[in-house]
Amino acid sequence: DSIDSDVDPMERSWPTRQNSRSSVLSEWDIPYEELEIQDLIGAGRFGRVFKGKWHGDVAIKVFNIETDNDLQLASFKTEVSMFRKTRHENLVLFMGACMKLPHLAIVTSLCKGKTLYDTVRDRRETLNMSRIVNIATQIAQGMGYLHAREILHKDLKSKNIFLENGKVVITDFGLFSVTKLIQYGERKDDTLAIPPGWLPYLAPEVITSLRATSQYTDSDLPFSQASDVYAFGTVWYELLVGDLPFKTQPAESIIWQVGKGLRQSPSNVQSRDAKDILMQCWKTQPDKRPQFSDLTQTLDRLPRKRLTRSPSTPLHLSRSAES
Ligand code: ATP
Repeated sequence: DSIDSDVDPMERSWPTRQNSRSSVLSEWDIPYEELEIQDLIGAGRFGRVFKGKWHGDVAIKVFNIETDNDLQLASFKTEVSMFRKTRHENLVLFMGACMKLPHLAIVTSLCKGKTLYDTVRDRRETLNMSRIVNIATQIAQGMGYLHAREILHKDLKSKNIFLENGKVVITDFGLFSVTKLIQYGERKDDTLAIPPGWLPYLAPEVITSLRATSQYTDSDLPFSQASDVYAFGTVWYELLVGDLPFKTQPAESIIWQVGKGLRQSPSNVQSRDAKDILMQCWKTQPDKRPQFSDLTQTLDRLPRKRLTRSPSTPLHLSRSAES
């Protein structure tokens, strides 16, 4: 078939509807009334996530911003404008947002699979090394794309990674600023709230910047591409070992150890190559850590057969590679 290059193939197959243009919404605005909010999926630091309907199944993140606080509102809008730039198969699909107070919400595709957090802890799951490397590669690819778009995740963790029929879907990127502004904005005392399971993903430069203050914003914390890579290291550790580093330790102890350059080593992981990746990502100096593009190549070169994953056994501390 010859194709007339002057005619858009879509226009030939589907009649154009010029007259209906006026009813089309501005690109990312979703009127709150159009959302059908269904069951609560869960509550996080910033608000609640509901299953819902908007032209099909969606996840609706409703933010607890009650406020006439212009800073919070501006921050929300900045985050949303950043979301719009993301189109990658390993990133949750951003569909739009409700931007008018009092209803602030983000609408994304609904992830129907299990989180990586649940997957690595499920004894019935068989995570052989080739699957582990495959999952890690997809995460690195999604993260590499975000960084190429100059977006930092700031909260990469196994609870923010879904697995759907073998495909990795990363969620919650860039939402950290909103969540932290809200959380710390609301605090009246001088204590620092540390959400459970947060510290193991925090790079040493971020951990050592934590301060007990009620005036906290994320601009006080030195997040960077390298701190996202550190968090990826922790996810890699979870994939290999099936649990978080420093699992049973109190926050003070984790902060002290990581600040001193101590890391938990997966002593029961046989493969030197797998441990090397971990130690590279967990380096103390941010500029010594690899980039996600390097990591996808390293993962691709891993001799998968020689790698083994053993059930979790007592772990030992090791110093990070250069300290
Ligand atoms: P935190 O606030 O510390 O990040 P969290 O990740 O558990 O904690 P949320 O991100 O608010 O909190 O998520 C709340 C719940 O909604 C979690 O169970 C999460 O797995 C689920 N969830 C989030 N996004 C989606 C999505 N797009 N599809 C399906 N479930 C989702």
